[in-house]
Amino acid sequence: MKRSFVIVGAGVAGISAAKAIRAVERECEITIVEEGIAFPYYRAALGEVVLGKKGPEEILIEPLDFYDRACLRLRKGQRVVSVSVSGRYVYLSNNERLRFDALLVATGRREVIPAHLKKYAPHLSTFSTLEDALKIRDALPSLKAALLRGKGFNALELARVLVKSGVQVTLVTPDKRLYYPALPDDENEHLRNLIREAGIQLIEGDDVNRVEEKNKGLYSVELLSGKTVECGLVFASGGFAPNVSFLKNSGIYLNQGVIVDDYLQSTEEGIFAAGDCAEIYHPSIGRYWVNLGHPNAARQGEVAGRNMAGEAMERLEIEKMRPYTIFGEQLYARWWD
Ligand SMILES: Cc1cc2nc3c(=O)[nH]c(=O)nc-3n(C[C@H](O)[C@H](O)[C@H](O)COP(=O)(O)OP(=O)(O)OC[C@H]3O[C@@H](n4cnc5c(N)ncnc54)[C@H](O)[C@@H]3O)c2cc1C
Repeated sequence: MKRSFVIVGAGVAGISAAKAIRAVERECEITIVEEGIAFPYYRAALGEVVLGKKGPEEILIEPLDFYDRACLRLRKGQRVVSVSVSGRYVYLSNNERLRFDALLVATGRREVIPAHLKKYAPHLSTFSTLEDALKIRDALPSLKAALLRGKGFNALELARVLVKSGVQVTLVTPDKRLYYPALPDDENEHLRNLIREAGIQLIEGDDVNRVEEKNKGLYSVELLSGKTVECGLVFASGGFAPNVSFLKNSGIYLNQGVIVDDYLQSTEEGIFAAGDCAEIYHPSIGRYWVNLGHPNAARQGEVAGRNMAGEAMERLEIEKMRPYTIFGEQLYARWWD
């Protein structure tokens, strides 16, 4: 019987793994289960979609015919809801089950709304998916002002593209760290200058206290300092959380993400994790940590794929710092605070 590989999540990590497995094993079955309905795309390019510089078809990870050519079964619009480690099955939301010999969890992470703002969730915009980007792009002609709270990839990229589109942007960060992954002090200062030079109103050491919808699509945002900002878009991020809740009762060991060894194997044999949902031991800080970012996800997917296919087990080299493109410049950030 052909070996069966299942990959959950068609982001950079999942697609890199599928390619690595196929390069080693020509005959096996590879199924990628993805809850989104779009063909896999680069999230880091979503800003270009908002700006109208690129259409959805220009940010694809692979061309549309790649999946058939590589004999990959891409099952879009289907969510994995649980995993049976002993039975070697993943269960889908439509009650179907898929058998696997080896499984890769590559489910990425999601933006988390700060606890004190959860009650305002219906008023908050998100910026993680193609659907989010298209929605914001379509709203641009009537959008005059936006308030963004947060310091991750999403918040900073959204700030950059909105201000470039002529929107008046207020960026609120609860502390003096302006980016996550964390920047060294001098880079943080440089980013502060870039943000200000771009024409963004930067408010540090403050936070959103209340969001009120005054008219349809027009919000009044009150900050802890008492300052209020009127705007048509509110974004509030309190950080990231790996998408691993569907593994809670599986027996696979979880911390924030899936705990993996240097070969990207979880505590269960034949079950691997890669990308923004994997937590790896960092010798430099003496604990496990989730390494965010696109190049990291691509590399981890490749290593996990090779190891799943049983090519000589390959160890992941852990880097301390990595360049990220922020406001059009390359700045080096580290993965931990
Ligand atoms: C706006 C924005 C800008 C960014 N800018 C940068 C940047 O400049 N540099 C950088 O390095 N990184 C950047 N990133 C982060 C980068 O995109 C991520 O680190 C990268 O996409 C992680 O890849 P991944 O494959 O681990 O996860 P993802 O790309 O998140 O893919 C995971 C996939 O799994 C799917 N999924 C989740 N749960 C399930 C389930 N239960 N069943 C089925 N499918 C599931 C999701 O729908 C998703 O498609 C940015 C991200 C965003 C949103």
